[in-house]
Amino acid sequence: MSSERKGSIDFIHDIIDEHNKTGKFGNKVCTRFPPEPNGYLHIGHAKSICLNFGIAIDYNGACNLRFDDTNPAKEDQEFVDSIKEDVSWLGFEWAKECFASDYYEQLYIWAQDLIKKGKAYVCDLSEDEIREYRGTSSGGKDGTTPNGKNSPYRDRTVEENLDLFARMRAGEFDDGTKTLRAKIDMAHPNLNMRDPVLYRILRAHHHRTGDKWCIYPMYDFTHGQSDSIEGVTHSICTMEFENHRPLYDWYLENLEIYAPQQIEFARLNLTYTVLSKRRLLTLVNENYVNGWDDPRMPTLSGYRRKGYTPTAIREFCKRIGVAKADSRVDIALLEHCLRDDLNKASNRYLGVMDPVKLVITNYPEDKRETLTGINNPEDESAGTREIPFSNELYIERSDFMEEPMKKFFRLAPGKEVRLRYAYLVTCTDIIKDDAGNITQINCIYDPESRGGNAPDGRKVKGTIHWVSAKDALEVEVRLYDYLFTEENPDGLRSDWLSCFNKDSLKTITAYVEPAVNNVGDRENFQFERTGYFIKDKNSTPEKLVLNRTIGLKDSWAKIQKKQ
Ligand code: ATP
Ligand code: MG
Repeated sequence: MSSERKGSIDFIHDIIDEHNKTGKFGNKVCTRFPPEPNGYLHIGHAKSICLNFGIAIDYNGACNLRFDDTNPAKEDQEFVDSIKEDVSWLGFEWAKECFASDYYEQLYIWAQDLIKKGKAYVCDLSEDEIREYRGTSSGGKDGTTPNGKNSPYRDRTVEENLDLFARMRAGEFDDGTKTLRAKIDMAHPNLNMRDPVLYRILRAHHHRTGDKWCIYPMYDFTHGQSDSIEGVTHSICTMEFENHRPLYDWYLENLEIYAPQQIEFARLNLTYTVLSKRRLLTLVNENYVNGWDDPRMPTLSGYRRKGYTPTAIREFCKRIGVAKADSRVDIALLEHCLRDDLNKASNRYLGVMDPVKLVITNYPEDKRETLTGINNPEDESAGTREIPFSNELYIERSDFMEEPMKKFFRLAPGKEVRLRYAYLVTCTDIIKDDAGNITQINCIYDPESRGGNAPDGRKVKGTIHWVSAKDALEVEVRLYDYLFTEENPDGLRSDWLSCFNKDSLKTITAYVEPAVNNVGDRENFQFERTGYFIKDKNSTPEKLVLNRTIGLKDSWAKIQKKQ
């Protein structure tokens, strides 16, 4: 990944360019990706990762991976591990691995510093009371006057506050009975500035600090200072933090420490899915899906398992760009980027998803041939492979029509079709069961047409894929559809689960050519005319399990054409 700067890339690059002109931050750029380890990363995080790591690459700077672990009740080492795996998989290297919890001691000292400066106090109001005292942003009865009220504990002396804060840390008080708050302005138009809480008492086991602490700093009191400690120059975050920026700046200013610049951008939203960790957690915990890495999930581990490539995801993030305005990106664009990448590198195989038997009546029953298949028409160096052929084949049920409609160029009674890499066959008759379902299609083949061309040059339009029933591997194939039936499940608010797609996973038995056995575990491949696939981790030596990564039809290209 090299930088190719041609004019303005986005407004964030513009801001950094401007800083570099004026020498602010000494022309060095340091960013960070700051996940909270309370869930697995999703495609929205990928946008933030590509942005933060991408900027570090563009400016020859550094990007840290920082775990914002200030909420012990919800965080876990499992999430830390998965996040590291996902960032690496995307292809990025962090300069430093950092944890906000490593700064707890420094944060405590800084909190004491604010107390000493008369800018923080211990408050005995309950959580509900704090909220009530804080008032609403619309103000008082006339809708304009800010209606926050000072806490009755606001005027405690510095000595009393220092003593109480030390005793909070020492565990003398029950959970939730006291907080440390900044003394800013209870009439401030921005609610975040009305004496925000810095510390709460919480007896919870932390995945890294264990039971060392029973008070924990709030996110807002942690984030900017962590940036400051690490020498971050540009603290890039999503729009919901715009209202927190005055507070971010206030802490750094009043602590009189180095102040990075916070810059906000719009979150990624994607059609037919949800990207809130809380909602993804619900899908996992309530068994709507089979874990965080279920291939239907918009998590990076889900995409990886489904067969998505890091290149495709990075390309998608590049194409969507960075802006301030909220939008919902069409999932077809992500799929388009994926197909683009898979098309170049994937070897082709033959596989039949919905089989019906085809018997070649004039092909000797005990005869076997091996035909030659081209592995990748996009890449000659991928070579060829051998495909076994016999008198009994499987073809797709949909490649036969008893009464063909106009422009159906595949197989039908009396019609001739090309079997990919093999021969021309003509349907002579069909066999049905009592219910009227076709159980066998009988054909004759033209022995002179090996390779697929008629010796007399007669035209045969249709080509269909097949596998030798006598040689094929029986495999389990998992077909995935979108998780939700609505474009914007979040739009249904608390009813978002009502549009969960109950048909989002379909498991079928398919027959595929034997060479699929030799495909690598993490190797993307294509079944011709069908789609891209990858082996699933549930595969056993006895039975392959394949995930359909994506079908071949590109709806994004169509959308583009229409426009
Ligand atoms: P969620 O709302 O899903 O819980 P979060 O913002 O709490 O997500 P974090 O772990 O705090 O999750 O996110 C780490 C970083 O990724 C943050 O800087 C956050 O702004 C960014 N991020 C999270 N979701 C998105 C998204 N949908 N699009 C772009 N960036 C995102
Ligand atoms: Mg967050």
